[in-house]
Parts: sequence; structure tokens; C-alpha cells
Amino acid sequence: NKQVILKDYVTGLLQESDMCISNENTVKLKVPEGSNGILVKNLYLSCDPFMRHLMNNPQKSPGSFFQSFKPGSAITGYGVSKVVDSGHPNLKKGDLVWGITGWEEYSLLTWTENHFKIEHLDVPLSYYTGILGMPGLTAYVGVFEVCKPKGEKVFVSDACGAVGQLVGQFAKMMGCYVVGSAGSAEKVDLLKNKFGFEDAFNYKKEDDFAGALKRYFPEGIDIYFDNVGGKMLDAVLLNMRINGRIVVCGMISQYNRGKTDGFHNLMSIIYKRIHITGFMVDDYYHLYSKFLDAVLPLIREGKIVYVEDTAEGLASGPAALVGLFNGRNVGKQVVFVAHE
Ligand code: NDP
Repeated sequence: NKQVILKDYVTGLLQESDMCISNENTVKLKVPEGSNGILVKNLYLSCDPFMRHLMNNPQKSPGSFFQSFKPGSAITGYGVSKVVDSGHPNLKKGDLVWGITGWEEYSLLTWTENHFKIEHLDVPLSYYTGILGMPGLTAYVGVFEVCKPKGEKVFVSDACGAVGQLVGQFAKMMGCYVVGSAGSAEKVDLLKNKFGFEDAFNYKKEDDFAGALKRYFPEGIDIYFDNVGGKMLDAVLLNMRINGRIVVCGMISQYNRGKTDGFHNLMSIIYKRIHITGFMVDDYYHLYSKFLDAVLPLIREGKIVYVEDTAEGLASGPAALVGLFNGRNVGKQVVFVAHE
């Protein structure tokens, strides 16, 4: 059973060498007698930024919200899998499922309320790592449950990724003017010409984020959907309109630092009466079927598009995961592990 192993807790920027591929684990292709677990064959694995938090040494990250991976063991994350054997009354051999699984060929899983049986197979299976999985639900609840935009001026950072590309498209459906930032000319082109953003810019080419934002929002930003935190969030504070809203979804610029950068413009929160709301998708899984009802037709009718970046084979997983933190991925980063 090939596995991706975390060698030790990580400090600083995640490197491929922090993980290794092991063939040492053996797995019986049967669920132990009397267990209600399921044995799955992993087909697609999802690279998600939160996985970096799980690599921190818990002793050195007091107050961390996440339970770290165990060094020397296979890492875990969201994935799409096929049931090979089942002790669970509602699942049988051959069923397709998504949820947390191991970064390995086969995993023995305990079914939780955050695991889902895949019922709709007329869309690509890999979509259940992205647009129809955790990142899709994140974009959906972030837009429709948390910031509830109506025709306003919206700025989205890390706009070309798994979450951001959907946030922009959802906000457009609500009649908003949407501008995104991303880290390459290719991504900027996708934002403008594929995802329908009004405009986009490459933040890596800007020395002065506040000045760049002023160009796109001369009258200010009504809603900022934050995926990056740090300097961009600080610059946004200067460009917000009175009573503007900031939805803090993620702060990927900070995850390898283990702390948040110093801010200079926090007093804007007072003067501009800014409402800042953080949210966690974990609180919204009860909306999953409502979300599917809303998003599946949009996919089928071509009213929403989704770009994926697929790495081939479990052994390419570590590099794909590291790529999230240097912007290598163009769209949702998926790892293809095996055919059904
Ligand atoms: P992406 O698919 O967008 O991949 C990560 C991207 O982040 C990279 O491609 C890179 O794009 C960008 N990035 C990396 N480092 C930096 C940096 N220092 N500054 C700015 N951008 C950077 O990731 P997701 O869409 O999966 O996740 C987006 C955000 O949403 C993350 O912050 C994540 O933690 C958060 N999230 C929050 C959830 C919640 O429940 N609150 C749930 C799921 C995700 P580029 O080329 O543009 O630099």
C-alpha cells in the first residue's frame, strides 16, 4: 500500500523533502470482522492549504485549531474513493464516496457525518475534490451564507484557485462587479476570459497593493473575500468603503510563517465601520445537499466553469501539495491516484 508519509513536523516553507513515499505498509483488502468501517481504494486526492497547519508541531503552536498529523504516518486529506469492502450498513462494495481519507492507495475509514456517498456521476468524479466538494461548499457558503452580496463591488484574492474561481462566479451571478488578484499572467487571463471577472491583476507585479486596488476600485471596495491575509488584507483596509464587509476565508500567505504579519492600517476598521467575519466550512456541512441542488444544474447547463490542475500518481502528491504555496497550481490541485 503505497503511502505519502510526513517525515517530521514542519517549520517554515513546506518542502517536498518533508514528505516521502513508502511502500512498507501492507493492507488486507477486507474490513476487520465486526467493524462498521469501510475499506476504500483512493482514486483522487485533494491538495488543500489547511493541510499545512496539520504539519505544525502542536507543542510549538499553542491554541492551534487543528490536530496535527503524526510524523512517520501517512498524511490525510479530502479525496474521492471507491468502497472495496464495507462493514457499514449503508455502504456496499463499488460505492463511490468523498471525504477525509489517507494519502495512500487503500484506506480503512470510519464513516463520519462529513463523508458523503457520491450519487451524481454525470460530472467528472474529480469534481468531488473541488467544485462539488469541500472547496466548492466553502465558496458557496462564503458567498451566499456569509457575505450575501447584491450588486456590490467585490474584490477576491487568490482568485484563480479552488475556492476563488467559484467565489467570483457566484458573486457575478449576484450582479456584482468582481475583480480578482492572482500570481501569474496565465491566471489573470483565466480570471478575465474564462471566469468572467470584470478585471484582474497579478499581485506579484505590484509593489504597492493599496495603489493597485485604488486603480480597480476608485470609489472603494464594498466586499473583500480574503483568501490570503497579510499585506493584501492590510492594503484592502485602506481601500474599503464605509460599512464595507470583509469575509475572511483564508490567509494562505501566512500558513508557512505560523503567525500573522504586522498590520499598519487596522484603524480603518473603526473609521470605515468595517464588518469583518471569519467562517469555517466545517460549520456548514448540513447545507451540502442544498448546495448540490444549486450547483449541479449550473455545471450541467454550463453556467459555471471549473478549472482543475491534475498531478498524475500518488508519488506526485508531495510536489503538488508544495505547489499550493508557490502558486504552481492553475485551478484546483487534484492528485490522480487510480482508475476505478
Ligand atoms: P488554491 O487552489 O487557490 O491554491 C493556493 C493558491 O494560493 C496558490 O495557487 C497561490 O496562487 C496562492 N498563494 C500561495 N501563497 C501565496 C501568498 N504568499 N500570497 C498570496 N497568494 C498565495 O487554494 P484554495 O482555493 O483551496 O484555498 C484558498 C483559501 O481558502 C486558502 O487560504 C484556504 O486556506 C482557504 N480555505 C478556507 C476554508 C474555510 O473553511 N474557511 C475552507 C477551504 C479553503 P497565486 O499564483 O495566486 O499566488
